[in-house]
Amino acid sequence: MTFNSETSTVPTITLNDGNSIPALGFGVFQVPDEDTYDAVTHALKAGYRSIDTAKVYDNEAGVGRAIADSGIPRHELFVTTKLWNDDQGYESTVNALDASLVRLGLDYVDLYLIHWPVAKKGLFVDTFKAFQQLKKDGKTRSIGVSNFTQAHLEQLIEGTGEVPAVNQVELHPGLSQSDLRAFHTGQGIATEAWAPLGQGASLGNEIIGDIAKTHGKTPAQVVIRWHLQIGNVVIPKSVTPERIVSNFDVFDFELTPEQINAIGGLDDSDIAGRIGGDPDTFG
Ligand code: NDP
Repeated sequence: MTFNSETSTVPTITLNDGNSIPALGFGVFQVPDEDTYDAVTHALKAGYRSIDTAKVYDNEAGVGRAIADSGIPRHELFVTTKLWNDDQGYESTVNALDASLVRLGLDYVDLYLIHWPVAKKGLFVDTFKAFQQLKKDGKTRSIGVSNFTQAHLEQLIEGTGEVPAVNQVELHPGLSQSDLRAFHTGQGIATEAWAPLGQGASLGNEIIGDIAKTHGKTPAQVVIRWHLQIGNVVIPKSVTPERIVSNFDVFDFELTPEQINAIGGLDDSDIAGRIGGDPDTFG
């Protein structure tokens, strides 16, 4: 297998700890471990250098094998994994990252995220204190959270004295999260969009379809471009080789400010709404 190992052309976003994250990465939620090797291999061949997995996806091993066989130098890759809810708490967090690293076959990840706040357990502050130590120990380069609301973030910052580098949240044209994004910007937190395509639901929208036609692009490419132009880190998932390639082919066109506003305005449309769990109650 040969890979083009020249440095990827994807733009990066500088995190509040000085590290950089590729603005476009590849997600592997709901991909069985046995299919993950092929999907990640296709993605790396297409040029993606950032992979987003999680303990609970049960496919860290497939991600790790694809990375190892790619021959791409480790420093050119950006690997994210997430701490599952059952592992919250100081000691269990330390053990959980060690176990993820073994499955991934890596010495460190680039970004470790608390997957959900599970505020009723009251453990996310202690969990993030363990993250701070894991960063000092070199087991993760950056630390962040996922599915945190503004209130959760304020509690975390107050309790740990540290602003997380990233908050990965559900964000797509039907849920554009403008208030939370503005809060992130004020705090220096990078916004990472999960379900960036609305798990496919955004793609049949007429307004997005019309914009796609004007650019000679697909609806998915337009939605990914929208994320990039509003400053999100975006991690579309696909197991379909042609889609993996086309979702990456988004650097040769630009949406107009009017088109960006039209897509952001779909919060009130037929595709509006949350797909995943409610951050206040999930877990
Ligand atoms: P996405 O919004 O990325 O949508 C994925 C779906 O869209 C799949 O069904 C895929 O089909 C389809 N699709 C992809 N590209 C195209 C295309 N070009 N044309 C038509 N359909 C397309 O949803 P995800 O939920 O997977 O979110 C992305 C990533 O975010 C996840 O993989 C995961 O890494 C992360 N995530 C994080 C969560 C969290 O709690 N932190 C929760 C959920 C996701 P197919 O694969 O068949 O091609």
